[in-house]
Amino acid sequence: MTMTPKLLVLSAPSGAGKSTICNLLLERNPDFRLSISATTRPPRGNERNAVEYFFLSKDEFFAKVERNEFLEYAEVHGHYYGTLKSSVEALLQQGFTVLFDIDVIGALNIKKQYPEAMLIFIRPPSQEELIHRLKNRKTENEAQIQKRLERLPMEYENARYFDHQVVNDDLLSTVERVEQLIRGQ
Ligand code: 5GP
Repeated sequence: MTMTPKLLVLSAPSGAGKSTICNLLLERNPDFRLSISATTRPPRGNERNAVEYFFLSKDEFFAKVERNEFLEYAEVHGHYYGTLKSSVEALLQQGFTVLFDIDVIGALNIKKQYPEAMLIFIRPPSQEELIHRLKNRKTENEAQIQKRLERLPMEYENARYFDHQVVNDDLLSTVERVEQLIRGQ
């Protein structure tokens, strides 16, 4: 019998469709729960505290760093993001599969602490498509888009240490592929 990993980490370049994939995975798999990260980024749109993120000031965030409350944390696009040990441990204890939507560096740090975690890198079909998606969603200005694109070489470089890479050319097929991978098929 193959063991289903209890930690599923998804990383992707900004605009590859990772958040949509995570939301669909959560809807379709009642045994999955999202690891809610802490961040110093201000809320966007109708994001709520403790739902999408725990929104913290820089002081609050670094007080948690000092108290060693994070499994990992990283600076991404000029803001800090971190995974709280306590929320991951609570979810695992309740028997849930914990889904992480975090950057590549965070993913590799989770793997160091939980070698059984499955790391999946979501690739956009092409760089042109990625730029098109980023521009189309209109949540970032030109400078912010540039900042996101500057991370691409680093992200692709680290993606080779992931367990799997899935190209997101069709949303539903991508979600099904991720489900197959975690179920060991
Ligand atoms: P956004 O601000 O668009 O929600 O997220 C920006 C980036 O930060 C995304 O790549 C997201 O996956 C990453 N991120 C979110 N939470 C965490 C976290 O706890 N740790 C790390 N390392 N990255 C995170």
